[in-house]
Amino acid sequence: MLRNVSILSMVLVFTASYLSCGSSKSVNRSVGKKPKNIIFLIGDGMGLTQISTLFMERDNTSSFERFKSIGFINTPSGSHKITDSAAGATAFSCGVKTYNNAVGMGLDTTPVTNLVELFSEQRYKIGMVATSSITHATPASFYAHASHRNKHYDIAGQLLSSSVDFFAGGGKKFFRDLDRESKLYNWQIDSSFCCSIPDSLELDPEKKYGYLLASDGMPKMSESRGDFLKTASLAALNYFDKDPYFIMIEGSQIDWGGHSNDYDYVVSELKDFDQTIDAILDYAEKDKNTLVVVTADHETGGLSLGGPQYVDSNGKKRQRYNAIEPSFNTGGHTSTLIPVFAYGPGAEHFQGVYENNEIFNKIKALMR
Ligand code: MG
Ligand code: ZN
Repeated sequence: MLRNVSILSMVLVFTASYLSCGSSKSVNRSVGKKPKNIIFLIGDGMGLTQISTLFMERDNTSSFERFKSIGFINTPSGSHKITDSAAGATAFSCGVKTYNNAVGMGLDTTPVTNLVELFSEQRYKIGMVATSSITHATPASFYAHASHRNKHYDIAGQLLSSSVDFFAGGGKKFFRDLDRESKLYNWQIDSSFCCSIPDSLELDPEKKYGYLLASDGMPKMSESRGDFLKTASLAALNYFDKDPYFIMIEGSQIDWGGHSNDYDYVVSELKDFDQTIDAILDYAEKDKNTLVVVTADHETGGLSLGGPQYVDSNGKKRQRYNAIEPSFNTGGHTSTLIPVFAYGPGAEHFQGVYENNEIFNKIKALMR
């Protein structure tokens, strides 16, 4: 009996201290803190192997070492074991696993509410920056609804009438009636600088700004795109500054390098993405109120970092370990798990292993 009483009192003491701990203000404050701004970066086609190349090729550290909250996503689409970029981005922006080629639509081809619509309802400013055409599958899935990613003209029209406030990328040829529509929706469209946007731009926060700097995709890094991705992203941050904002930034061409099985193309695009992340993290470190999430829709190319192979004197296949000879095993996408890196208020929610469309729920839960 005495023993039972002492166990009971221990349980009561434990319960009381647990409850007081759970209700203490300091605990609640750190768990419930929401960021003012959310910056979502997508390296299209960037698997763990692509990121690993930065560790082989780098002169100094990569931006990825600055993240402490890391997770993994499983990326199959609603129709295929291997996703395309439209279904991959729709999972992020609408929270549904849909069919490959779908832009902001579900399996039944009906539009699904996207993050741009949700953020604009909460009066966030919204930015889109990409090194592809701004109407390409990844950015399009955040602001448009189309039954197929190839409907570029339709998607371009939807961008101008959407709640997006700032965009930069290529795709000028897809905007049919640019003068009339930009006046109608109060856009200042600039297509004069290719490829860097000056970082001292004086932008009027009452207007909307679009930079269409190439007819279709932006030039490759190797074709002197320069620091477009970084400067356009920083221009968006500085433009929004005081208002809460959501910005999607895409390193679009890591994927294109993978499709071409062109290792140098992959690495140069990845380095560009890496230096953009670095600049964004510098900003977020100072700001302390911005969540930065970096991930990819899928891996492209089946990139592998094995050593050179040779056949020994017994006719056996062997591999040297003293060098790395990158190789690709497909011209398409693969289904490997994709890493997610997060920094800032709410970053801890992105830890763990989960499905790609969970990203949508996590971001939505962190809206103010
Ligand atoms: Mg893309
Ligand atoms: Zn692709």
